[in-house]
Amino acid sequence: MNDPGQTDQSTLEAIRRGDGQAWARLIDEYQGRLLRFALTRVSQPADAEDVVQETFTSFVRAIDRIRLKVSIETYLFGILRNEIVNRFRSQAAGTICLIQDIYQTRGDTDAGNPLDQVAAGDPGVSWCLCRDEQEQLQRDVLAQALRQFVADFKEAGKLRDLKIAELLFYCKVPNQDVAGLLALDDGLVRVVKHRCLKRIRDYCLKLCPPTDQSFCCSQDLLTETWESHRLSCPKRSTLGAFLLEMLEAEWFDYVDFHLATVGCRFCRASFKDLKEQRNGPEQDEFRRRLVTSTVGFLSQP
Ligand SMILES: [Zn+2]
Repeated sequence: MNDPGQTDQSTLEAIRRGDGQAWARLIDEYQGRLLRFALTRVSQPADAEDVVQETFTSFVRAIDRIRLKVSIETYLFGILRNEIVNRFRSQAAGTICLIQDIYQTRGDTDAGNPLDQVAAGDPGVSWCLCRDEQEQLQRDVLAQALRQFVADFKEAGKLRDLKIAELLFYCKVPNQDVAGLLALDDGLVRVVKHRCLKRIRDYCLKLCPPTDQSFCCSQDLLTETWESHRLSCPKRSTLGAFLLEMLEAEWFDYVDFHLATVGCRFCRASFKDLKEQRNGPEQDEFRRRLVTSTVGFLSQP
């Protein structure tokens, strides 16, 4: 859902060729939501504009090296988030869901390899082999497995289970709080969690080369992968349909959950930008500044 589409690839290629118009269009499209995101993370508007400018600068300077594994939007949000964390070092700057502000202080209740908990009783498979050169491969495999896992839930309309998975893996909310938030039985949440981990693990094993049936996973890696690919984030068009109240009831409820209960800051920024799409004169001014300050980094055709 947040994979790079054909349009993202052509935009990237156009910018690589030094197409200033394509670059200005990209700024136009993403500056609003990036600025809204930054404004929720830093207190001074000038700092927010500064980190957004830095984000576009980093993007254009790295343009020849970028290999898109996620959409341009997700890629830009990733740079922006790093920029904010590096510049304003604080735990709060790093959380990407409102709900994490409540739960992050409580300590991690699920240390260790979550996929190992499923693997217990399956001694034929070693689940922890961590050589550096394998790390990237493992991350890619995990991302692919999780993408498939989320797609299955969506196709089957299992939105309750998707909500449980999202709270557990994207937000790291402890089991019993997941049960409380969704008004479900504790035991049910545990069962769904076990089923989810088993499915993720099976997908990983299927995707790993047969010679390499080993996998190292931690709760952090699971969350980091979920986050960096924004696996359960609705598309911008879905947010638009939500705004116009044109979604079917159960999807409307899911998007509302993602925005209000999970409090996904990427999607909230995007949603706010959609609501205030008619940019005011200050945004036009900011846009002009962004284009002027970054266009010089484009390679000359
Ligand atoms: Zn989201």
